[in-house]
Amino acid sequence: MSKLQSPGDIRCWHSEFASVTIESKFLHDHGNVIQGESVRSLAFCGIFFCAFGLADLAQLGYGDQALALFLARLMVMIAALIGIVMIRRSSNPARTAYRVATVFTSLAMLTFLLVAYFRGDLLLHGMSMAIMLIIVYLFIPNRLVNATIVALSASIAFLGLVYAVDMISVRQLSTMTMLLILANLFGAIAARRDSHSSRRQYWTRQILISQAMRDPLTGVFNRRHLNAGLLDEEIDRARVNGESLTVIICDIDGFKAVNDTHGHQAGDTLLRDFAHLLLSMTRDGIDTVVRYGGEEFLLILPDTDLPDGLALAERIRTKLTEAISMHGDVRINATASFGVVSTCLLPHLPTIASHALIARADELMYAAKRSGRNRVHVAEWNVTSSI
Ligand code: GH3
Ligand code: MG
Ligand code: MG
Repeated sequence: MSKLQSPGDIRCWHSEFASVTIESKFLHDHGNVIQGESVRSLAFCGIFFCAFGLADLAQLGYGDQALALFLARLMVMIAALIGIVMIRRSSNPARTAYRVATVFTSLAMLTFLLVAYFRGDLLLHGMSMAIMLIIVYLFIPNRLVNATIVALSASIAFLGLVYAVDMISVRQLSTMTMLLILANLFGAIAARRDSHSSRRQYWTRQILISQAMRDPLTGVFNRRHLNAGLLDEEIDRARVNGESLTVIICDIDGFKAVNDTHGHQAGDTLLRDFAHLLLSMTRDGIDTVVRYGGEEFLLILPDTDLPDGLALAERIRTKLTEAISMHGDVRINATASFGVVSTCLLPHLPTIASHALIARADELMYAAKRSGRNRVHVAEWNVTSSI
């Protein structure tokens, strides 16, 4: 039996959202945080690598080998600087940070292995290795899978080096192996926990945002979301692009009678069905459906002129008269009245206040009610003159 999937599911081992779209959105929304953390971590790592190099020079003198090792460490610092510039300039900082982290940690680990090989003193380097593994897992933002591959490969290479050089006892080698296994295990567990919890928090926040802007009964946007500037944004966009914009207000006719005759739950079913009809007849991701009042809905239709707005309102009106809402055995027939207002906005002409556009559509809808209901009233809003 297959497990039910929810859009916010997190992949168990990768610790990323199962949905590629949601993972991309998460990374996009967290771009600034990941950018800041990456820049700080790379700067610290670069500085420390160089500082250890200087300490080596002071202790070992300025021989060829010490200078070569210092130059290798300097290269890591330069790589950190290049990485910082790339992350800062990227239009997608999170993805760039992940790529930079993988390349940088691989380079840093390789350099460290080189230093350990030439410097000897493998017990001390084993301890440093354990600390570096924790840094790779926890402090440099990266995909968990990439960090694990880099950390495990570096650990195996280091143990291989220790074994090949054969400078420490079997007891010390086994202790060091245990230490590196421990660092890898705890590093991976902590990174996985962090990855999961940041995604869970993000998803909870997304749900709360969505709930705050949607009407719980019908699932369409609510008045709060409209008041947050939804229509003003569309007006601004239409004005910049010199496009038409249509607003429709529609209100179910005689809705109170449905409640009074069949009960409020039957009324709720009709409201849900009507909202679904509106959603199904408007363009996904372009048009917006808002529950404006009890049984009154607002449609915002970008790049739509008056003939197209009228045609859509007529199609919805006709479809509603043909549709039957079923509440248990009760069959409910409904009609609605529509007010349609269209305008063509241009950058050099004055703009329109969103509340004035809605008020005009509302007036037209009430005019449709007065003239017998189940009809559409339209008007063009000419921005050069008031109506
Ligand atoms: P008209 O044709 O003039 O629009 O008349 P109407 O009966 O549709 O409008 P009226 O304003 O008289 O009544 C609207 C009713 O809608 C009153 C209110 O109790 C009911 N209502 C508002 N919100 C809800 C809701 O969420 N669920 C249900 N079932 N009823 C609601
Ligand atoms: Mg009504
Ligand atoms: Mg009403």
